[in-house]
Amino acid sequence: MVIRIQHLQWLGGVVAAAACLALGVLSLHANLSDHMRYRRAGEQLQRFHASLIAATSVSAERGPANSAMGGREEDRAILAAALAARRALTDRDIAVAEAQIGRDARSQAIAQIARQLREDLAAGRAAVDAVIARPAAYRGGAPTRQAIEAMFTAADTAGRLREALGHDAVLEASELASDVIINTVAGALREETGRLGSFVVMKLTSDEAVHPRLDAAIATTRTRIDMLRAALRNYAAAFLPGTGLEQAVATVEDTYFRGALPFVERIAALRSDEPRPDADTFTRLYVPGMKPVEELRDKVAAASRVTIEKLSHQSYLMVLASLLLTTVAVLAILAIALVFRDGLFRPLMTAHRQVLRIANGDLSDPPRQQSASAEVRAMFEGLEMLRLQQRRRLELEEEQMRLSERLRHLSRTDMLTGLLNRRALQEAADHAFAASDAGGGPMAVILFDIDHFKAINDGHGHGVGDDVLRAIAETLGAHLGPEAAFGRHGGEEFIVLLPGDEDEATARAEALRRTLERVVVATAPGLTVTGSFGVAVRLPGSGLPLEDLVAVADRRLYLAKIAGRNRVCSSDPLGPLPRRAVGN
Ligand code: GH3
Ligand code: MG
Ligand code: MG
Repeated sequence: MVIRIQHLQWLGGVVAAAACLALGVLSLHANLSDHMRYRRAGEQLQRFHASLIAATSVSAERGPANSAMGGREEDRAILAAALAARRALTDRDIAVAEAQIGRDARSQAIAQIARQLREDLAAGRAAVDAVIARPAAYRGGAPTRQAIEAMFTAADTAGRLREALGHDAVLEASELASDVIINTVAGALREETGRLGSFVVMKLTSDEAVHPRLDAAIATTRTRIDMLRAALRNYAAAFLPGTGLEQAVATVEDTYFRGALPFVERIAALRSDEPRPDADTFTRLYVPGMKPVEELRDKVAAASRVTIEKLSHQSYLMVLASLLLTTVAVLAILAIALVFRDGLFRPLMTAHRQVLRIANGDLSDPPRQQSASAEVRAMFEGLEMLRLQQRRRLELEEEQMRLSERLRHLSRTDMLTGLLNRRALQEAADHAFAASDAGGGPMAVILFDIDHFKAINDGHGHGVGDDVLRAIAETLGAHLGPEAAFGRHGGEEFIVLLPGDEDEATARAEALRRTLERVVVATAPGLTVTGSFGVAVRLPGSGLPLEDLVAVADRRLYLAKIAGRNRVCSSDPLGPLPRRAVGN
């Protein structure tokens, strides 16, 4: 199987991009759901805080209620107004908490607790109002205790509402568990410190018979307060360091535990026969000591809000980061794929085509390749070098062919006249005779010798003799057509091989003889040259070699000489003649 790296690279790129995308989507999904979860948790926390405030409000209402129930007769109107104002605040805080309860199934249960809170609070207030309606002398004892306990019930229900909402917040984001617990502890501390005051109010307004029971309740509440105090002191500041909680805890220690608490214990320890403050005076002195507890609770709530906002913001940043990183990764993979395609695979295919063209002998310059890559540039430079070398080799080959052609020409050419030499003439005859024997016509040989050439040499010099020979070759060569092979047989003797029977050959010889008479030699103006011609014809299939034919023609040439020169002889009825009896 043939593998294309480019396809593999594309496949790899697509797989990597898909994997990146999948990773990105997973991360985006995780971060987005975290972000949504933290936002929901933030809302839950807000509800939880509203319930905390509502619960504190319900606790705080006991202060003015106790004052109104245990205050002096002359303060009745003022205390009643203070209680009404406090109740309005409680109603507002509960309404705020109720407004934040959702409409889902879980919220239905919470709404049920809120309704219960309204009912319990109404019952508590009714009990308080019933006590207040009595004349001052008849308020103390059981009716006040029952009214306070009815208000405790409302506070317990408010606590349940707070716990249910805290539970939901932790369910949404477990990161909030510590916040919710510390908030709950701070809320519970507010409740228990208030309750401690209420028990003391009960004691101040009850007779001795119930004091042991109330002392037991006070002791239990004190134990709870100590536990809550320890929890706050140990964990609140450590849990949210740098948020000012240490300072808030220290203020609680100073104001409540070293001020209000010793005060409440002292009042609780007073016997009936000792001078004791009335409920209202006690309450007015005690309640401000609980203020830092409420402030601590608010600080814890604020710190929790910061926590959840930080978490939500962080998850939002992570959403953005996963989006950005995924986009960058996918784009980078695509860019790499494109760079590979344009910067490597395409040039590779172009180089492949160029190599094929060079192999096929096409050495023309291809369009210039622009590439930023050093490797690709080196590849094309290598191809350019290969092309140049191939061109040079081709030029050398052509030069060699020209040279060998020239050599071949020289080896077949007579140096002086440029006519064919004997060897070339022999080759031409071999071809012509073969063609003639293979169904062609007869072939003729015309042999001629310049008359009295020696006299020309002697009279004009050897150089002019050479000029005469060249002029003859040029003029007669031009006269003869391309079908005739014209050669120098030696000295001042020439030979013509041409197709034709005896008559035609004789006519051609005669024409040549006449042309020879008209040869003009530039270096010897006025000189007339003549020659004697012998003609021999070879019939097709006769098998006569050139040598024999030339011998016959030579013999006839000799006849022409002895007959008086400057003539043609194409037959020899005299039979065999002695060869070269006359010098030629
Ligand atoms: P004939 O009519 O009987 O042929 O008289 P001729 O003078 O031509 O006879 P001969 O054959 O005795 O003389 C030929 C002369 O041609 C002899 C030689 O010096 C001269 N010759 C041969 N080759 C060359 C050549 O290449 N150049 C020159 N200038 N002379 C040559
Ligand atoms: Mg001669
Ligand atoms: Mg001669």
